[in-house]
Amino acid sequence: MGKGTASFGKHGRSKTHIVCRRCGRRSFNVAKGYCAHCGFGKSRRIRRYSWQTKKVNRVRVV
Ligand SMILES: [Zn+2]
Repeated sequence: MGKGTASFGKHGRSKTHIVCRRCGRRSFNVAKGYCAHCGFGKSRRIRRYSWQTKKVNRVRVV
């Protein structure tokens, strides 16, 4: 069993993500050591993409 689809059946047993120190979301991957949401631990800059927000009345809404 590798790290593909087969091994994801065991994902419910241990916690994959813990609460992130920077963004407060439960997105900090314990094994990889970085946050999936803000990129904390991977890069100094905050992970940010244009597609994660949308414009409402010409203003970016989270
Ligand atoms: Zn984070």
